[in-house]
Amino acid sequence: MKLDLRRQQMLLAGEWVDRTETMEVRNPENDQLVAIVPKASKTDMEQAIARAKEGAKASAALPVYKRMAILNRAADFVDAHKERFARTIATEGSKTIREARKETGRCVETLRLCAEEARRVTGETIPFDQSPGGTGRFGYYERHPLGIIGAITPFNDPLNLVAHKIGPAIAAGNAIVLKPATATPLSALLLAEAFMEADLPKGILSVMTGLGSEVGDVLITHPDVRMVSFTGGMEAGLEIAKKAGLKKKSMELGSNSPVIVLEDAQIEDAVKANVSGAFWAAGQNCIGVQRLYVHEEVYDRFKELFVKQSCAYLMGEKLSEKTDMGPLISEKEAKRVAFMVDDALRMGAALLCGGKRRGAFYEPTVLENVPDECMLAKEEIFGPVVLLYKIKSLAEGIERANQSDYGLHAGLFTESMNAVFQAIQELEAGGVMVNDSSDFRIDAMPFGGTKQSGLGREGVKFSILEMTEQKVVCFKLRDNG
Ligand code: NAP
Repeated sequence: MKLDLRRQQMLLAGEWVDRTETMEVRNPENDQLVAIVPKASKTDMEQAIARAKEGAKASAALPVYKRMAILNRAADFVDAHKERFARTIATEGSKTIREARKETGRCVETLRLCAEEARRVTGETIPFDQSPGGTGRFGYYERHPLGIIGAITPFNDPLNLVAHKIGPAIAAGNAIVLKPATATPLSALLLAEAFMEADLPKGILSVMTGLGSEVGDVLITHPDVRMVSFTGGMEAGLEIAKKAGLKKKSMELGSNSPVIVLEDAQIEDAVKANVSGAFWAAGQNCIGVQRLYVHEEVYDRFKELFVKQSCAYLMGEKLSEKTDMGPLISEKEAKRVAFMVDDALRMGAALLCGGKRRGAFYEPTVLENVPDECMLAKEEIFGPVVLLYKIKSLAEGIERANQSDYGLHAGLFTESMNAVFQAIQELEAGGVMVNDSSDFRIDAMPFGGTKQSGLGREGVKFSILEMTEQKVVCFKLRDNG
C-alpha cells in the first residue's frame, strides 16, 4: 500500500502511471492540500480504452472461480485496511469519520456480493416448440459480458459507488475504464490498489483521474465502449445520455425525495429516521430526505421534535468521533445551497433552524411554508436542508410527493396497511420505504429511479444484468422419423 498519498498515480490498464499535468485534491473542511493526482488527457483516455480491448478478452476468459477469488481478495484488502479507507473518504470528501467507516463496511459487502453473484450469471432454456415453426428445435440463452464498460462516478460516496461499478463489471467478465469525481479520486485509487493486490489481470481495470468536461467525451462516445454507467447529477446525465448514442446506458441520477408522515405514525421513530435521512453526508445523498409531508393532526408535535433534533445535530470536524455532520464538498456548493435557501426565504418561507454558512459548512436547516414555485421546492438541494409541509390526507401527500420531475426513493410512516398499499401503488419512485425515511438502501437491492432520476438499476445482481447481454442458441434437431 502506498503510504504517501500526496503524489498519487492513476491506474492505466493495470499500470500505475504519473503525468506532469496534475490536479489538486483539497480537504473541503479547511482547504488544505491532501494530494496531487495526474490529470488524464484525452490521449490517456484513448489509450486506456485501447488497452481495455485486450482487457475485455482477458476478463471474459477468466473462469468464474477466479473472478470470485479476485473479488473476495479485494474485499479482504479493503477490510484489512478499513481505517485507512475510512480516513481517506473523510479527508478528501464531506463525510465524517463515522459516516466514512459505514461506507467502507458497505464497500466490503458490495465486493463480496459481486463475488457471490458472479456464479449466477446464467441463462435459461427456451421451449422453442411453443411456436409451430419451432418444432424440432432445442435451445437456450446465455448471458455474455458486453466488453468495455465506461464508468463515471460522483463525489458523495467516493468508495462504495466506485465498487458498484468495478465489482459487477468484473463479476460479469468485462473490462472497465472508470473516471472518479475530480473532488474525490483518492478513495477510487485505493480501491484500484485493492484490485491490483488481489491479482486482477492487467488491462481489465483503469481508474483515470481527469476532468469530466475534458476526458468524459472520449469515454462516452468511443465506439469500443459498449456501456456508459454513470452516477451523478441530472444535468450531466442528460448531456452524457445524448452524446452516448447507441450504447447501453445506466443513469443513476439525483432526486428531491419526499417522505409522508401520517397521523397514526410512530412520531419519535419518524423524527429520528428523517433527521438522519436529511442530514447524512451533509445532505449530499441522492436519496436524502428533502420534502417532508406531515399530517396536520401530528404536524406541531413532529415539527417541535424535528427542529429540536436538527438543531442538536453536531456540525464540525470530520475526523472527530463526536461530529454528526461535516462540510459540503466545497465552499462553492455551500454558497449554492445558501442561495437556494435565501431565495425561498425571500419568497415567504419560514426558517425554523440553521440557515447559516461558514466556508464549506452549512448548518442543518429546516424550513416551512416553502412556496411551490421556488427552486428549493422543485430542484434537488443536495445539501443539509429539509422542507416541512402540512397535509390533510394521504391522497394529498401522494399528490404533492409526485409533483416532482424526480422519482428515486420515497418514504411513508403509518400503521395502516391500506395506506401502505395505496402509497406503494401510487408513489412515483424507484423504491418506497415503509416506516423509514427515503434514505434507506442495501447494496443487494435493485436501486434506481423513475422519471428524471435515471435509467436502469444498480444493486449488484441488477448491475450485472445491465452489464451483460443475452445470446440465444438454437439447435435444429435432425428428424429421425
Ligand atoms: P456531477 O457534477 O454530475 O458529476 C458526477 C461525475 O460526472 C463526476 O465524475 C464528473 O466529473 C462527471 N461529469 C460531470 N459532467 C460531465 C460531462 N459533461 N461529461 C462527462 N463527465 C461529466 O455530480 P456530483 O456533484 O459529483 O454528484 C452529485 C449528484 O450525483 C447528485 O445529483 C446526486 O443525486 C447524484 N447521485 C446519484 C446517485 C444514484 O445512485 N442515483 C448516487 C449518488 C449521487 P468531474 O468531477 O471531473 O466534474
